[in-house]
Amino acid sequence: MSQAIKDGYKQAEAFCLMMYRCKKGHQVLIWNSRDGVTPFIISCRIHDCREECQHVNLENDYYCPAHKPSTGDYVFVDLTIDMALAYRLQYVERNWCDEMKGMFGTKKKAVERLAKGDMESFAPHTPHLTRWK
Ligand SMILES: [Zn+2]
Repeated sequence: MSQAIKDGYKQAEAFCLMMYRCKKGHQVLIWNSRDGVTPFIISCRIHDCREECQHVNLENDYYCPAHKPSTGDYVFVDLTIDMALAYRLQYVERNWCDEMKGMFGTKKKAVERLAKGDMESFAPHTPHLTRWK
C-alpha cells in the first residue's frame, strides 16, 4: 500500500514526485499537487521532440506532500474550466475543418463542448500539466 493511501488519500500517486521519460531519453520530474489521478503518458516537454513520455520507475514515486515546487517546475493540478476553455480555443483554431463544423456548428460551440468534455473526463480531479508560478 502506498504511503498516500495510508495517509487517507484516494489516489496512490497523490502528492508524489514522478519521473516521466521519452524514447530519446529526455526526462522530467513532475509533482502531483493534489489527490487525483495522473496520466501514464504525456507529450515530451523538450522543444521539437515529438515522442511520448511515459511514467517510469513507478516504484520510485516519491510521496512528498510538503514539497514546495520552484517557479517553472512541472506540476499536475486540477483542470479548471478556464484552463480547458483556453486549451480548446487553441485546439479548435488549429484543427477547424468541415467535419468539426458538421459536428459542432460553430467554433464557439466546439470550444465549449470540448472543454466541458475535458472537465467531465476525470471529474472532479481531471489532471492538467502546467508549470508552477
Ligand atoms: Zn523527448
